[in-house]
Amino acid sequence: MTCPLSTITWNDFQELGLSEKAKLLQESGREFHVMFAQQFTRKRLDELGALATVIRRMAKSRDGRRFLGQCLAHQRAMLYFTQPSSRTFLSFCAACQILGMQIGEVRDPAVSSEFKGETREDSVRTFSSYFDLIIMRTELSGLVERMSWVLSQSERPVPIVNAGSGKDQHPTQALLDIYTLQRSFEDRGGIDGKTIMFVGDLARGRTVRSLSILLTTYKNVRQIFVAPESLQVGDDILVQLSAAGTDYEISSDFRKSIPEADAIYMTRVQHEWDVKGETSEDSIADYSFTTEHLKLLSPDSVLMHPFPRKGEISPDVDHDPRAVYWRQMRNGMWIRAALIASMFRCDDGITAESQSIGK
Ligand code: ASP
Repeated sequence: MTCPLSTITWNDFQELGLSEKAKLLQESGREFHVMFAQQFTRKRLDELGALATVIRRMAKSRDGRRFLGQCLAHQRAMLYFTQPSSRTFLSFCAACQILGMQIGEVRDPAVSSEFKGETREDSVRTFSSYFDLIIMRTELSGLVERMSWVLSQSERPVPIVNAGSGKDQHPTQALLDIYTLQRSFEDRGGIDGKTIMFVGDLARGRTVRSLSILLTTYKNVRQIFVAPESLQVGDDILVQLSAAGTDYEISSDFRKSIPEADAIYMTRVQHEWDVKGETSEDSIADYSFTTEHLKLLSPDSVLMHPFPRKGEISPDVDHDPRAVYWRQMRNGMWIRAALIASMFRCDDGITAESQSIGK
């Protein structure tokens, strides 16, 4: 695999718009690096969702698990997570393990040479000496981009997957959210034409930002952003929605919008990004989903959350069949396995094997 990013200087790359950048991240119709949501087309979302389903079904049988487990047994993945994580970290671990990959990890720079003053660039280049894939979570927006370019110029240009970068993007969470919506609306004509409502800290929630962008690849999807003014979604996202012709609404009326939604995507307040005096816990209290709200929710809509939750959804709601956040979490493992399998070009082999098992 040759990384198309290797052909451009850092300054020229920085000058490009997102769609031009996206072209330099793909190789033969698949992702070489995964940086941001804008690089996924509708076609890719359909392909990855279909592959996730094939993997999920294959993993139910011993033969299927054995086949999957040898697909990438010769490859190693490095999980470089310098920001707290439970779900994303573990679901990537599980996804790699499903495909038989060996994994290594650095989660605390205090126990790596960064403590001695090594730069992140040198750390990432070091990982690329030993591993074939780097999965990276960072508090710094833009770092994944920089590191992907740096590696592309090196003698071992291994792929990087963004597992959450700053307040900016969380593309693989958005993939699992799309996969959850695909599955939820499987018998209702798919995601096209649905109304998706985002609630909570939309200003700093990177999962909302990435998912909102992926939803623009579907036809006639309406997006409703419900938040107090100080936590409303950024203009940069709204500009992209307008450019894509997406119908959206900004609201602060949580109750009113609930009956209109086919999916409600709740989020927590991201206090880790607080600037002193910017927001308080109270400002979000009116935007929490309780059993009382279940009555307003239409019978075939779904309630989602990227987790962790901090009171935005009462645990009393968990028993309702429309609460799909636990399934959403597990979907992350399948779609991440599909993404990695596809990046390493074992997707066709997996699909062929699943057909022969099915015969
Ligand atoms: N787990 C998600 C993230 O890493 C959502 C959150 O932390 O609120 O962005």
